[in-house]
Amino acid sequence: MTYDPNNIFAKILRGEIPNNTVYEDDHVLCFDDITPQMPVHCLIIPKGQYLSLTDFSATASDDEIIAFHRAIAKIIKIKGLSDDGYRAICNTDIDGGQEVPHFHMHILGGELCPKMIVR
Ligand code: AMP
Repeated sequence: MTYDPNNIFAKILRGEIPNNTVYEDDHVLCFDDITPQMPVHCLIIPKGQYLSLTDFSATASDDEIIAFHRAIAKIIKIKGLSDDGYRAICNTDIDGGQEVPHFHMHILGGELCPKMIVR
């Protein structure tokens, strides 16, 4: 599968559609999910063109991978999730139910997450 530059997150990165930005740096953007499943529900994406967690883990540069993980900690603090915790989900490919083909991590919190996956 090749990267589709017209996916919705690519459009967000190009500023073609709006987003509620939580955090941004040279490599990473985080914005609130448009259909939140929890009191806190945001999405962390790399600015590079990566299809999935698998693609990102295999092919992103060390700088991009480090930036992504450092951003998670900053976003957790911004969203006030440091004390009570949160759930991080990366739906991946067909069986994972990934709908947007640009790697993203869901951050869900603000109350006790259900036992099963939240989507
Ligand atoms: P996934 O099923 O893991 O690919 O999740 C895609 C997520 O993107 C869903 O939770 C959608 O609600 C969210 N989403 C889709 N379009 C937008 C948008 N324009 N702004 C913010 N979140 C979006």
